[in-house]
Amino acid sequence: MPRPVPQEPPRTSSRTSSRRTSPRTSSRRTSSRTARTTPASPVRIPPRTLHTGIVNGALGVTAMGAVQAEPSARLDVLFATGAHLTGLLAGYGVLVMLFLMARVPAVEHGVGADRLARTHALGGRYVLSLCAAHAVLALCGYAAHADTDLLRAAVDLLGYPGLAAATAGTVLLAAVGATSARAVRRRVRHETWRAVHLLTYVGAALAFAHQLAGPDIAGGVLSLGLWSLLHATVAVLLVWYRVVVPVRQALRHSLRVLGVHDEGPGVVSVVVQGIGVDALRAEPGQFFRWRFLRRGLWYTALPFSLSAPVRDDTLRITVKAAGDHTRRIRRLRPGTRVLATGPFGALTAHRRTRRKVLLLAGGVGITPIRALFETLPGGPGDLTLLYRAAGAGQLVLKEELEAIARRRQAGLHYLLGRSDEPFDRLAPQALRNLVPDLADHDVYLCGPPGMAAAATAALVRAGVPEERIHAECFTF
Ligand SMILES: Cc1cc2nc3c(=O)[nH]c(=O)nc-3n(C[C@H](O)[C@H](O)[C@H](O)COP(=O)(O)OP(=O)(O)OC[C@H]3O[C@@H](n4cnc5c(N)ncnc54)[C@H](O)[C@@H]3O)c2cc1C
Repeated sequence: MPRPVPQEPPRTSSRTSSRRTSPRTSSRRTSSRTARTTPASPVRIPPRTLHTGIVNGALGVTAMGAVQAEPSARLDVLFATGAHLTGLLAGYGVLVMLFLMARVPAVEHGVGADRLARTHALGGRYVLSLCAAHAVLALCGYAAHADTDLLRAAVDLLGYPGLAAATAGTVLLAAVGATSARAVRRRVRHETWRAVHLLTYVGAALAFAHQLAGPDIAGGVLSLGLWSLLHATVAVLLVWYRVVVPVRQALRHSLRVLGVHDEGPGVVSVVVQGIGVDALRAEPGQFFRWRFLRRGLWYTALPFSLSAPVRDDTLRITVKAAGDHTRRIRRLRPGTRVLATGPFGALTAHRRTRRKVLLLAGGVGITPIRALFETLPGGPGDLTLLYRAAGAGQLVLKEELEAIARRRQAGLHYLLGRSDEPFDRLAPQALRNLVPDLADHDVYLCGPPGMAAAATAALVRAGVPEERIHAECFTF
């Protein structure tokens, strides 16, 4: 007789093999029980709402600029009007960029960090284009008004209060944009890119100073008040969620490495334990940014998904050695202090719309998918996991996956073979052969960007609507 399948996520029935009971760990467990409260459902802002909010804000800013515009057919006035409008929109765009990266939980959990990063990258291009348009239009407007050449106009303009600051701010934002261009980003270290990115705050502050010196904002009490309020709100959100919350979490949960286990070639699982970890309300499918306080790792926070649900005050990640930092993770010792900020990510059960779910993982993308495979509610036959890897030797967490599949009577198929082989294991017909009623499924997908893009295209061609494909890529 098959065993009954849990309809709700199983909670604390199984344990990681790393558990070692000590007075220290048992007291931590007790404190977690007392810290456990009934979690309210987290607020999530869906992508469409965020998008509508941003567009409406841009329309509001345009209306604010239009109200102040002087109707005229004179060339210098037309240039000036264009300069004011693009300047206002660029200022608003900088605020939106900062807001998207403020790590506000409602936005992170509703939209997803990878999608936010993509929106931020695209928005950054618009902001830089608006800054360039603003500078060129202002220059042309001044030259037309003063009846002078562009060089003379540029020298004159730099003498105006706030304009040297604005130019410096624009140069900083352009430098940030240049290091983010794909071709450059691939060549620079992540830490270098991040350090340059911090200049955005200086650029934004200089741009704000420039806006306060100009007539559009400073000219009216209402516009000045609104603009200042918007900036203050974003600044508070940034300080709160990027500084205060991480520090509070570090002090409250006091995380330490409990054990490190081999999972396969170049892959290890790290179990981290702390106090009151349940209060973090991390959901299967989410990730944290991890900072391991040991030599060679403390200065960078690396994103890793939870590869198992949170239980008994422990968090587990499974890490593939991809570069210098991930190679050092293998050498972590039990007791090493850990700072983890999060949880982040929207690849969670809340996105599900159908009873049947296909989980599709590529390579180390199995980590969040493994946690979802164990916990997504479902009866026999409701869940199917397809795990794409180059070969059997590359499969990780295999025994756990097979045990979950047996216990939950879920489908589990390994799609093995190199990606350059002629037979495409992710072709629409190949997917339909494995999951005949594929179009009736929600799909949770996680893998490298190339595989995720190919799988999404194949799923759409196989009849799965795009809004039912919930994907996360391991790149920002
Ligand atoms: C949301 C998310 C979840 C992830 N979950 C897992 C997981 O569960 N298991 C796993 O093995 N890998 C996961 N990754 C990938 C993992 O974070 C990278 O492989 C790791 O950061 C590489 O670090 P490195 O310095 O060793 O390699 P490097 O060779 O320095 O970098 C390899 C790649 O990782 C990027 N990277 C490096 N440092 C960071 C950083 N601090 N933040 C963001 N990207 C960075 C680099 O830009 C480069 O593209 C995840 C990535 C993301 C974005």
